[in-house]
Amino acid sequence: MNHNDSLHNKHQPPAAERRWAWVEVDCEAVRHNLKRFRRHVGPDVRIMAVVKADGYGHGASEVAKIALGSGANFLGVASVDEGVRLRLSGVVAPILILAEPPVESIPLILQHQLIPAVHDRAFVLALGEMADASGRPAPFHLKIDTGMNRVGVHHSDAADFLRQISFHRGLELQGVFTHFATADDVDTFEFKRQMERFTATLETIRYMGMDPGIAHAANTSATLRYKQSHFDMVRIGIGMYGLHPSEITRSIIELRPAMSVYARVSFLKPVPMGEGVSYSFAYRSPGNVLIATIPIGYGDGLARALSTHMEVLHKGRRLPQVGTICMDMTMFEIDQRASLGRPSADVQLGDEVVLVGKSGNDCISLDDMAQALGTINYELACRFGLRLERVYTE
Ligand SMILES: *Cc1c(COP(=O)(O)O)cnc(C)c1O
Repeated sequence: MNHNDSLHNKHQPPAAERRWAWVEVDCEAVRHNLKRFRRHVGPDVRIMAVVKADGYGHGASEVAKIALGSGANFLGVASVDEGVRLRLSGVVAPILILAEPPVESIPLILQHQLIPAVHDRAFVLALGEMADASGRPAPFHLKIDTGMNRVGVHHSDAADFLRQISFHRGLELQGVFTHFATADDVDTFEFKRQMERFTATLETIRYMGMDPGIAHAANTSATLRYKQSHFDMVRIGIGMYGLHPSEITRSIIELRPAMSVYARVSFLKPVPMGEGVSYSFAYRSPGNVLIATIPIGYGDGLARALSTHMEVLHKGRRLPQVGTICMDMTMFEIDQRASLGRPSADVQLGDEVVLVGKSGNDCISLDDMAQALGTINYELACRFGLRLERVYTE
Protein backbone atom coordinates (compact mmCIF):
# COMPACT_ATOMS: atom_id res chain seq x y z
CA MET A 1 0.00 0.00 0.00
CA ASN A 2 1.88 3.10 -1.11
CA HIS A 3 1.03 6.75 -0.94
CA ASN A 4 -0.52 6.56 -4.40
CA ASP A 5 -3.21 4.06 -3.53
CA SER A 6 -5.94 6.54 -2.69
CA LEU A 7 -5.65 7.74 -6.29
CA HIS A 8 -5.79 4.31 -7.89
CA ASN A 9 -9.36 4.69 -8.86
CA LYS A 10 -11.16 4.16 -12.14
CA HIS A 11 -12.33 7.76 -12.33
CA GLN A 12 -8.80 9.11 -12.25
CA PRO A 13 -6.57 9.55 -15.28
CA PRO A 14 -3.32 7.57 -15.04
CA ALA A 15 -0.37 8.98 -13.08
CA ALA A 16 1.53 10.36 -16.07
CA GLU A 17 -1.56 12.33 -17.11
CA ARG A 18 -2.35 13.71 -13.67
CA ARG A 19 1.10 15.15 -13.35
CA TRP A 20 3.70 15.73 -16.03
CA ALA A 21 6.50 14.11 -14.04
CA TRP A 22 6.67 10.45 -13.16
CA VAL A 23 8.84 7.41 -12.52
CA GLU A 24 8.58 4.44 -14.83
CA VAL A 25 9.42 0.99 -13.49
CA ASP A 26 10.22 -1.69 -16.05
CA CYS A 27 8.81 -4.90 -14.52
CA GLU A 28 10.49 -7.05 -17.16
CA ALA A 29 13.87 -5.62 -16.12
CA VAL A 30 13.28 -6.72 -12.51
CA ARG A 31 12.36 -10.23 -13.75
CA HIS A 32 15.42 -10.33 -15.98
CA ASN A 33 17.72 -9.26 -13.13
CA LEU A 34 16.32 -11.85 -10.75
CA LYS A 35 16.75 -14.60 -13.31
CA ARG A 36 20.36 -13.51 -13.69
CA PHE A 37 20.89 -13.79 -9.94
CA ARG A 38 19.17 -17.18 -9.85
CA ARG A 39 21.52 -18.42 -12.56
CA HIS A 40 24.46 -16.98 -10.64
CA VAL A 41 23.66 -18.59 -7.26
CA GLY A 42 22.22 -21.86 -8.57
CA PRO A 43 19.02 -23.64 -7.53
CA ASP A 44 19.96 -24.47 -3.93
CA VAL A 45 20.55 -21.00 -2.49
CA ARG A 46 17.52 -19.01 -1.39
CA ILE A 47 17.15 -15.46 -2.68
CA MET A 48 15.88 -12.71 -0.40
CA ALA A 49 14.54 -9.74 -2.35
CA VAL A 50 15.37 -6.63 -0.32
CA VAL A 51 12.48 -4.16 -0.69
CA LYS A 52 13.21 -1.69 2.11
CA ALA A 53 12.75 2.06 1.51
CA ASP A 54 9.71 1.31 -0.65
CA GLY A 55 11.70 -1.03 -2.83
CA TYR A 56 14.60 1.43 -3.24
CA GLY A 57 11.99 3.85 -4.58
CA HIS A 58 10.51 1.35 -7.07
CA GLY A 59 7.43 0.42 -4.99
CA ALA A 60 7.82 -2.29 -2.34
CA SER A 61 4.66 -4.31 -2.88
CA GLU A 62 4.88 -4.22 -6.68
CA VAL A 63 8.54 -5.26 -6.67
CA ALA A 64 7.90 -7.89 -3.98
CA LYS A 65 5.22 -9.54 -6.12
CA ILE A 66 7.39 -9.51 -9.24
CA ALA A 67 10.36 -10.86 -7.28
CA LEU A 68 8.37 -13.68 -5.68
CA GLY A 69 7.06 -14.60 -9.13
CA SER A 70 10.61 -14.70 -10.51
CA GLY A 71 12.31 -16.99 -8.04
CA ALA A 72 12.78 -14.98 -4.84
CA ASN A 73 11.95 -16.93 -1.67
CA PHE A 74 12.15 -14.31 1.05
CA LEU A 75 11.61 -10.57 1.48
CA GLY A 76 13.74 -8.16 3.47
CA VAL A 77 12.57 -4.83 4.93
CA ALA A 78 14.01 -2.29 7.37
CA SER A 79 11.04 -1.69 9.67
CA VAL A 80 7.88 -3.22 11.09
CA ASP A 81 5.81 -0.65 9.18
CA GLU A 82 7.32 -1.74 5.88
CA GLY A 83 6.53 -5.36 6.72
CA VAL A 84 2.94 -4.58 7.73
CA ARG A 85 2.38 -2.68 4.47
CA LEU A 86 3.54 -5.68 2.47
CA ARG A 87 1.16 -7.95 4.40
CA LEU A 88 -1.74 -5.54 3.86
CA SER A 89 -1.01 -5.59 0.13
CA GLY A 90 -1.49 -9.35 0.17
CA VAL A 91 2.08 -10.66 0.37
CA VAL A 92 2.27 -14.01 2.19
CA ALA A 93 5.97 -14.87 1.73
CA PRO A 94 8.32 -14.76 4.74
CA ILE A 95 9.42 -11.21 5.59
CA LEU A 96 12.58 -10.52 7.59
CA ILE A 97 13.01 -7.18 9.35
CA LEU A 98 16.74 -6.67 8.85
CA ALA A 99 17.38 -4.84 12.13
CA GLU A 100 15.87 -5.38 15.56
CA PRO A 101 12.76 -3.19 15.99
CA PRO A 102 11.55 -1.63 19.28
CA VAL A 103 10.19 -4.07 21.85
CA GLU A 104 6.85 -2.21 21.76
CA SER A 105 6.30 -3.41 18.19
CA ILE A 106 6.25 -7.12 19.10
CA PRO A 107 2.42 -7.43 19.05
CA LEU A 108 2.39 -6.12 15.45
CA ILE A 109 5.22 -8.47 14.50
CA LEU A 110 3.26 -11.47 15.77
CA GLN A 111 -0.04 -10.30 14.34
CA HIS A 112 1.43 -9.96 10.84
CA GLN A 113 3.81 -12.90 11.09
CA LEU A 114 6.93 -10.86 10.47
CA ILE A 115 10.35 -12.23 11.36
CA PRO A 116 12.56 -9.89 13.38
CA ALA A 117 16.33 -9.73 13.34
CA VAL A 118 17.42 -10.00 16.94
CA HIS A 119 20.50 -8.90 18.84
CA ASP A 120 19.25 -8.05 22.31
CA ARG A 121 18.41 -10.47 25.11
CA ALA A 122 15.56 -8.42 26.56
CA PHE A 123 13.96 -8.14 23.13
CA VAL A 124 14.17 -11.81 22.30
CA LEU A 125 12.84 -12.89 25.70
CA ALA A 126 9.89 -10.49 25.37
CA LEU A 127 9.28 -11.91 21.88
CA GLY A 128 9.33 -15.45 23.28
CA GLU A 129 6.94 -14.61 26.14
CA MET A 130 4.37 -13.00 23.88
CA ALA A 131 4.65 -15.69 21.26
CA ASP A 132 4.22 -18.38 23.90
CA ALA A 133 1.11 -16.64 25.19
CA SER A 134 -0.29 -16.60 21.66
CA GLY A 135 0.35 -20.33 21.35
CA ARG A 136 2.76 -20.23 18.42
CA PRO A 137 6.57 -19.95 18.64
CA ALA A 138 8.04 -16.84 17.01
CA PRO A 139 10.70 -17.33 14.33
CA PHE A 140 13.67 -14.96 14.48
CA HIS A 141 17.08 -14.51 12.86
CA LEU A 142 20.12 -13.72 15.01
CA LYS A 143 22.07 -10.73 13.71
CA ILE A 144 25.78 -11.29 14.26
CA ASP A 145 28.28 -8.43 14.18
CA THR A 146 31.42 -9.75 12.51
CA GLY A 147 33.12 -6.38 12.19
CA MET A 148 30.85 -3.72 10.71
CA ASN A 149 30.22 -2.42 14.25
CA ARG A 150 26.73 -1.22 13.48
CA VAL A 151 24.26 -3.61 15.14
CA GLY A 152 24.37 -7.27 16.11
CA VAL A 153 25.59 -9.62 18.82
CA HIS A 154 29.39 -9.65 18.82
CA HIS A 155 30.56 -12.74 16.95
CA SER A 156 32.41 -14.10 19.99
CA ASP A 157 29.19 -13.93 22.09
CA ALA A 158 26.74 -15.24 19.50
CA ALA A 159 26.79 -18.94 20.37
CA ASP A 160 26.41 -18.22 24.09
CA PHE A 161 23.56 -15.83 23.39
CA LEU A 162 21.73 -18.62 21.56
CA ARG A 163 22.51 -21.22 24.21
CA GLN A 164 21.09 -18.97 26.95
CA ILE A 165 17.74 -18.59 25.19
CA SER A 166 17.55 -22.10 23.71
CA PHE A 167 15.32 -23.30 26.58
CA HIS A 168 12.52 -21.02 25.43
CA ARG A 169 9.58 -22.80 23.83
CA GLY A 170 8.21 -19.50 22.48
CA LEU A 171 11.24 -18.96 20.25
CA GLU A 172 12.31 -20.58 17.02
CA LEU A 173 15.80 -19.81 15.69
CA GLN A 174 15.13 -19.70 11.95
CA GLY A 175 18.40 -18.19 10.79
CA VAL A 176 21.64 -16.39 11.59
CA PHE A 177 23.17 -13.63 9.52
CA THR A 178 25.80 -10.95 9.25
CA HIS A 179 26.43 -7.98 6.96
CA PHE A 180 29.66 -7.01 5.21
CA ALA A 181 31.12 -3.52 5.54
CA THR A 182 33.50 -3.76 2.58
CA ALA A 183 31.90 -6.08 0.00
CA ASP A 184 32.16 -3.25 -2.55
CA ASP A 185 35.81 -2.46 -1.93
CA VAL A 186 38.75 -3.48 -4.06
CA ASP A 187 40.76 -4.55 -1.02
CA THR A 188 39.45 -7.88 0.28
CA PHE A 189 41.25 -8.17 3.63
CA GLU A 190 38.43 -6.89 5.87
CA PHE A 191 35.89 -8.89 3.89
CA LYS A 192 37.84 -12.10 4.44
CA ARG A 193 38.13 -11.42 8.15
CA GLN A 194 34.33 -10.99 8.44
CA MET A 195 33.87 -14.23 6.46
CA GLU A 196 36.20 -16.13 8.82
CA ARG A 197 34.44 -14.84 11.90
CA PHE A 198 31.01 -15.74 10.52
CA THR A 199 32.11 -19.22 9.48
CA ALA A 200 33.74 -19.83 12.88
CA THR A 201 30.60 -18.65 14.70
CA LEU A 202 28.44 -21.03 12.66
CA GLU A 203 30.80 -23.88 13.61
CA THR A 204 30.62 -23.01 17.29
CA ILE A 205 26.82 -22.90 17.20
CA ARG A 206 26.72 -26.35 15.59
CA TYR A 207 29.40 -27.66 17.96
CA MET A 208 27.16 -26.65 20.87
CA GLY A 209 24.45 -28.84 19.37
CA MET A 210 22.22 -26.07 18.00
CA ASP A 211 20.93 -25.70 14.48
CA PRO A 212 21.66 -22.20 13.14
CA GLY A 213 18.94 -22.57 10.47
CA ILE A 214 19.28 -20.40 7.38
CA ALA A 215 22.75 -18.83 7.33
CA HIS A 216 23.08 -15.70 5.20
CA ALA A 217 25.58 -12.91 4.72
CA ALA A 218 25.84 -11.68 1.12
CA ASN A 219 24.39 -8.48 -0.31
CA THR A 220 24.46 -7.87 -4.08
CA SER A 221 28.18 -7.18 -4.23
CA ALA A 222 29.27 -10.15 -2.11
CA THR A 223 26.87 -12.43 -4.01
CA LEU A 224 28.51 -11.51 -7.29
CA ARG A 225 32.12 -11.39 -6.13
CA TYR A 226 32.41 -14.19 -3.58
CA LYS A 227 30.67 -17.52 -4.09
CA GLN A 228 31.83 -18.72 -0.65
CA SER A 229 29.67 -15.99 0.95
CA HIS A 230 26.37 -17.40 -0.36
CA PHE A 231 25.73 -19.90 2.48
CA ASP A 232 21.96 -20.77 2.45
CA MET A 233 20.57 -17.46 1.21
CA VAL A 234 21.69 -14.24 -0.48
CA ARG A 235 20.10 -10.83 0.10
CA ILE A 236 19.70 -8.96 -3.17
CA GLY A 237 18.79 -5.28 -3.15
CA ILE A 238 20.40 -2.91 -5.61
CA GLY A 239 21.14 -5.56 -8.24
CA MET A 240 17.49 -6.58 -8.50
CA TYR A 241 16.72 -3.00 -9.53
CA GLY A 242 19.34 -3.30 -12.26
CA LEU A 243 21.95 -1.09 -10.64
CA HIS A 244 25.50 -2.04 -9.77
CA PRO A 245 26.77 -1.58 -6.22
CA SER A 246 30.14 -0.53 -7.65
CA GLU A 247 32.12 -0.59 -10.87
CA ILE A 248 33.68 -3.91 -9.85
CA THR A 249 30.54 -5.98 -10.50
CA ARG A 250 29.83 -4.63 -14.00
CA SER A 251 31.90 -7.27 -15.73
CA ILE A 252 30.35 -10.11 -13.68
CA ILE A 253 26.67 -9.79 -14.55
CA GLU A 254 24.51 -8.03 -17.10
CA LEU A 255 21.70 -6.10 -15.40
CA ARG A 256 18.89 -3.90 -16.70
CA PRO A 257 18.03 -0.72 -14.79
CA ALA A 258 14.33 -0.76 -13.89
CA MET A 259 13.84 2.92 -13.04
CA SER A 260 13.44 5.79 -15.50
CA VAL A 261 12.37 9.33 -14.67
CA TYR A 262 10.30 11.40 -17.09
CA ALA A 263 8.70 14.82 -17.31
CA ARG A 264 6.79 16.82 -19.92
CA VAL A 265 7.45 20.41 -20.88
CA SER A 266 4.84 22.48 -19.05
CA PHE A 267 5.94 25.94 -20.20
CA LEU A 268 8.10 27.28 -23.00
CA LYS A 269 9.15 30.82 -23.84
CA PRO A 270 11.98 32.94 -25.25
CA VAL A 271 13.91 34.84 -22.58
CA PRO A 272 15.66 38.00 -23.81
CA MET A 273 19.39 38.40 -23.44
CA GLY A 274 20.50 39.36 -19.94
CA GLU A 275 17.31 38.36 -18.14
CA GLY A 276 17.66 36.00 -15.21
CA VAL A 277 15.92 32.65 -14.79
CA SER A 278 14.89 31.00 -11.50
CA TYR A 279 15.88 31.94 -7.92
CA SER A 280 18.80 34.34 -7.52
CA PHE A 281 19.26 34.58 -11.29
CA ALA A 282 22.25 32.25 -11.16
CA TYR A 283 21.63 31.94 -14.90
CA ARG A 284 21.07 34.80 -17.32
CA SER A 285 19.90 34.34 -20.86
CA PRO A 286 22.65 34.64 -23.47
CA GLY A 287 19.94 35.63 -25.97
CA ASN A 288 18.39 33.54 -28.73
CA VAL A 289 17.25 30.84 -26.33
CA LEU A 290 13.99 29.26 -25.33
CA ILE A 291 13.59 28.31 -21.70
CA ALA A 292 11.51 25.20 -21.04
CA THR A 293 10.05 24.35 -17.65
CA ILE A 294 9.37 20.83 -16.42
CA PRO A 295 7.26 20.21 -13.30
CA ILE A 296 9.80 18.24 -11.28
CA GLY A 297 12.19 19.49 -8.62
CA TYR A 298 14.12 18.71 -5.49
CA GLY A 299 10.87 17.79 -3.73
CA ASP A 300 10.80 14.86 -6.14
CA GLY A 301 14.38 13.78 -5.53
CA LEU A 302 16.02 15.87 -8.24
CA ALA A 303 18.80 17.14 -5.99
CA ARG A 304 19.20 20.93 -5.97
CA ALA A 305 22.97 20.43 -6.02
CA LEU A 306 22.59 19.21 -9.61
CA SER A 307 21.60 22.73 -10.72
CA THR A 308 23.53 23.50 -13.95
CA HIS A 309 25.37 20.16 -13.60
CA MET A 310 22.81 18.02 -15.39
CA GLU A 311 21.18 17.59 -18.76
CA VAL A 312 17.87 16.24 -19.97
CA LEU A 313 17.28 14.10 -23.04
CA HIS A 314 14.80 15.24 -25.65
CA LYS A 315 14.35 12.89 -28.61
CA GLY A 316 17.81 11.46 -28.04
CA ARG A 317 19.48 14.85 -27.74
CA ARG A 318 21.05 16.40 -24.63
CA LEU A 319 19.86 19.81 -23.51
CA PRO A 320 21.48 21.68 -20.61
CA GLN A 321 19.60 22.34 -17.41
CA VAL A 322 19.89 26.01 -16.42
CA GLY A 323 19.14 28.09 -13.33
CA THR A 324 18.51 26.80 -9.84
CA ILE A 325 16.45 23.63 -9.50
CA CYS A 326 13.32 24.56 -7.50
CA MET A 327 11.23 22.36 -5.21
CA ASP A 328 8.67 21.54 -7.91
CA MET A 329 10.10 22.90 -11.16
CA THR A 330 13.26 22.85 -13.21
CA MET A 331 14.27 24.76 -16.33
CA PHE A 332 16.37 23.83 -19.32
CA GLU A 333 17.67 25.76 -22.28
CA ILE A 334 17.02 25.35 -25.98
CA ASP A 335 19.66 27.20 -27.93
CA GLN A 336 18.01 28.67 -31.04
CA ARG A 337 21.22 29.49 -32.86
CA ALA A 338 21.79 26.67 -35.30
CA SER A 339 25.40 25.70 -34.79
CA LEU A 340 27.79 23.80 -37.05
CA GLY A 341 24.98 22.97 -39.40
CA ARG A 342 23.02 21.36 -36.57
CA PRO A 343 19.47 22.64 -36.34
CA SER A 344 18.26 23.74 -32.92
CA ALA A 345 16.14 21.26 -31.00
CA ASP A 346 12.46 21.39 -31.86
CA VAL A 347 10.87 21.32 -28.42
CA GLN A 348 7.11 21.72 -28.06
CA LEU A 349 4.87 22.22 -25.08
CA GLY A 350 3.94 18.79 -23.69
CA ASP A 351 7.02 17.06 -25.12
CA GLU A 352 8.46 14.26 -23.07
CA VAL A 353 11.98 14.63 -21.67
CA VAL A 354 14.04 11.97 -19.96
CA LEU A 355 15.89 12.79 -16.75
CA VAL A 356 16.97 9.22 -16.08
CA GLY A 357 16.83 6.51 -18.73
CA LYS A 358 17.12 6.05 -22.47
CA SER A 359 16.18 8.36 -25.29
CA GLY A 360 17.19 7.54 -28.84
CA ASN A 361 20.73 6.21 -28.68
CA ASP A 362 21.61 8.14 -25.57
CA CYS A 363 21.08 7.34 -21.91
CA ILE A 364 21.44 9.15 -18.60
CA SER A 365 21.90 6.71 -15.73
CA LEU A 366 21.38 7.07 -12.00
CA ASP A 367 25.12 6.36 -11.81
CA ASP A 368 25.92 9.45 -13.92
CA MET A 369 23.73 11.52 -11.66
CA ALA A 370 25.16 9.99 -8.48
CA GLN A 371 28.67 10.68 -9.68
CA ALA A 372 27.85 14.34 -10.35
CA LEU A 373 26.53 14.58 -6.80
CA GLY A 374 29.24 12.61 -5.02
CA THR A 375 26.81 9.97 -3.81
CA ILE A 376 25.68 6.47 -4.77
CA ASN A 377 22.86 5.27 -7.04
CA TYR A 378 21.09 3.72 -4.00
CA GLU A 379 20.37 7.14 -2.52
CA LEU A 380 19.03 8.64 -5.74
CA ALA A 381 16.68 5.73 -6.48
CA CYS A 382 15.19 6.02 -2.97
CA ARG A 383 14.67 9.76 -3.34
CA PHE A 384 12.93 9.60 -6.71
CA GLY A 385 10.46 7.26 -5.04
CA LEU A 386 9.36 9.77 -2.44
CA ARG A 387 6.81 11.92 -4.25
CA LEU A 388 6.75 10.97 -7.92
CA GLU A 389 4.10 8.53 -8.91
CA ARG A 390 5.15 5.30 -10.51
CA VAL A 391 3.99 3.82 -13.77
CA TYR A 392 4.66 0.09 -14.21
CA THR A 393 5.40 -1.19 -17.70
CA GLU A 394 5.70 -4.81 -18.80
C1 LIG B 1 20.02 -3.25 2.36
C2 LIG B 1 20.58 -4.52 2.80
C3 LIG B 1 20.94 -5.50 1.86
C4 LIG B 1 20.89 -5.29 0.37
O1 LIG B 1 22.09 -4.69 -0.05
P1 LIG B 1 22.37 -4.40 -1.61
O2 LIG B 1 23.74 -3.85 -1.64
O3 LIG B 1 21.34 -3.39 -2.02
O4 LIG B 1 22.21 -5.68 -2.32
C5 LIG B 1 21.39 -6.71 2.35
N1 LIG B 1 21.48 -6.95 3.67
C6 LIG B 1 21.17 -6.01 4.61
C7 LIG B 1 21.31 -6.33 6.05
C8 LIG B 1 20.72 -4.76 4.19
O5 LIG B 1 20.42 -3.85 5.12
